[in-house]
Amino acid sequence: MQTVSILGATGSIGDSTLDVIRRNPERFTVYALTAGKNVTRLVQLCLEFRPRFAVVASQASYSELKLALKNAGLETTPLAGSDALIDVASADDVDTVMAAIVGAAGLMPTLAAVKAGKKVLLANKEALVMSGELFIDAVKNHKATLLPIDSEHNAIFQCLPASVQQQSSQTSLCNNGIAKILLTGSGGPFLNTPLSELPAMTPEQACKHPNWDMGRKISVDSATMMNKGLEFIEAKWLFNAKPADINVVIHPQSVIHSMVQYVDGSVIAQLGNPDMRTPIAHAMAFPERIESGVAPLDFASMVDFSFVPPDYARFPCLKLAIDACNAGQWACTALNAANEVAVDAFLERSIRFTDISAVNHRVLDGVLPQQLNSLEQVVELDKMARMLAKQYLTESQ
Ligand code: NAD
Ligand code: MG
Repeated sequence: MQTVSILGATGSIGDSTLDVIRRNPERFTVYALTAGKNVTRLVQLCLEFRPRFAVVASQASYSELKLALKNAGLETTPLAGSDALIDVASADDVDTVMAAIVGAAGLMPTLAAVKAGKKVLLANKEALVMSGELFIDAVKNHKATLLPIDSEHNAIFQCLPASVQQQSSQTSLCNNGIAKILLTGSGGPFLNTPLSELPAMTPEQACKHPNWDMGRKISVDSATMMNKGLEFIEAKWLFNAKPADINVVIHPQSVIHSMVQYVDGSVIAQLGNPDMRTPIAHAMAFPERIESGVAPLDFASMVDFSFVPPDYARFPCLKLAIDACNAGQWACTALNAANEVAVDAFLERSIRFTDISAVNHRVLDGVLPQQLNSLEQVVELDKMARMLAKQYLTESQ
């Protein structure tokens, strides 16, 4: 029996994780469920999964959570605040932590799970992008097990030799016969939209992904392809890859979730329906396999299977992220922070779709290259980049 804490239980990944747990009750028991501020959904989940702790990130929601748990007749203990998130991610009784908070808010609790040596299932790519080597060093030093949930990285992991899977963030790819990581992406909802129409695209249009049903931030990131850019940086750290080892390939059908090319010419791919329960079930049961509820692929109904190279004029955020990956950690941290601010502003309708890349570009230009040797320096630069982004937003209004 694995005891699991789910950080971000009320989100899209949280939902898929709990569905995998629902289908495998003999394997998993829930220790804690956490949410940003959605108390109603959190209490519904507590009624079904009976965790020991329910945590809201916002202190302001504590009384509401306490009352709602009491009214529901639940024995679940209510907690609130960032320390509580850290506590339930690192508690002795916990084996596995699903890191599914969106954005930089997930960094501290995810790192706490790593430093407690847990099995950490990483959906929260922003945490790794912003802290890079510090995160990977913590995995190594605290003997944590880090398994990728992002469908592309989970696919790559599945295509690697077992010996590399043991220590994928520390093993040399080329010493194991690996020539390239082929990171696939659908191209999102605006792959074929005329470029002249992009500035007018609304949050509703951006969040309508052709193949995946996801939270709003990652949906906008998929429309700009910043998501693929963050995944490029994520792949560098998870697989100890050089930027030159990673190629982005657009595959609009999202059936191949990524591939690994070997020096002998072999390409190994992982395929499946676009449903996050597959990578979640894979990582939760690894190295075993369990039911996920995902329908089997139907090859008879697959008419198109296509691949195109990415167009940086259409997707400038992808180019910015690859450039940031080459430039160094400071650029990745600043870009991630700027992008969170820009995406928020777009979702609130204060900027146009195409302004997201403009804000990101200006912040990268405004930050000086610097060494980030500690978590404090990472947090400080994240704060500074957010301030710069907000300043540009105010100036341009
Ligand atoms: P979501 O918006 O649906 O859910 C986010 C969760 O985080 C919610 O439970 C929310 O309450 C919580 N949260 C938000 N702000 C918080 C804060 N300040 N403090 C604490 N908790 C907070 O997002 P999602 O789509 O589930 O994505 C979660 C993470 O997984 C993201 O990093 C995303 O990039 C990654 N991811 C998602 C998918 C997907 O299919 N949804 C695929 C790959 C990776
Ligand atoms: Mg992905």
